[in-house]
Amino acid sequence: MIASDLETAIAALRDLIADARAIVPFTGAGISTECGIPDFRSPGGLWSKNRPIEFGDFLASQEMRDESWRRRFAMQDSFGKARPGRGHRALASLYKAGKVPGLVTQNIDNLHQDSGIPPQDIVELHGNTTYATCLECRERYELAWVRERFERNGERAPDCACGGFIKTATVSFGQSMPAEAMQRAEALAKSCDLFLAVGSSLVVWPAAGFPLMAKRNGAALVIVNREPTEFDDIADLVVRNDIGDALAPFITG
Ligand SMILES: [Zn+2]
Repeated sequence: MIASDLETAIAALRDLIADARAIVPFTGAGISTECGIPDFRSPGGLWSKNRPIEFGDFLASQEMRDESWRRRFAMQDSFGKARPGRGHRALASLYKAGKVPGLVTQNIDNLHQDSGIPPQDIVELHGNTTYATCLECRERYELAWVRERFERNGERAPDCACGGFIKTATVSFGQSMPAEAMQRAEALAKSCDLFLAVGSSLVVWPAAGFPLMAKRNGAALVIVNREPTEFDDIADLVVRNDIGDALAPFITG
């Protein structure tokens, strides 16, 4: 059912949430756009102008690693101060109410953690861009540390003490999906009784698999997204209103 208007959407969502024992939110770029973080994949988005650096190229060349970090620091200046939006806060409220065993996100912006959901209950399919790790020994590095050395060395990306390359903790194009995150996301999708997809077009693999998994295991499926998705036909509720407007009534405390 596609909600005819915002009030109908909120009322239907309220009923589904009240009936649910285990809600698994699945979030994409749309939940963060009201926080000022653009959807890089959208037509006209940053990635249509500035092709992402593929993992193989990052590994192959110092120049590409330098360029990758140059872009990351430029992004930091634009979006580094982003705060959780109404969607994030609503999901954090459901978490605090004990309704959410875990949340799965395609986002790399750390805003779910910033909204108060503990990191261990957030499954990040595409990693996290707010810190870096060594690709060899997995040592964690903070962005400020990397930036200080990058700037001191004439915009040259620093390496780890072990000799490994330091990269944001994101999953780049050409990099394999993190196996543990995939397994945890699948387990959550299969064990919930309400799968709440928010701000994802549900086309990018592996996102497309999870709503079906949840539905086949008997969960209700809710899709909150401005644009239609391929799963609207099987969803119990489709909300095409603004995400912040639709979820704001569920913010508590
Ligand atoms: Zn290392």
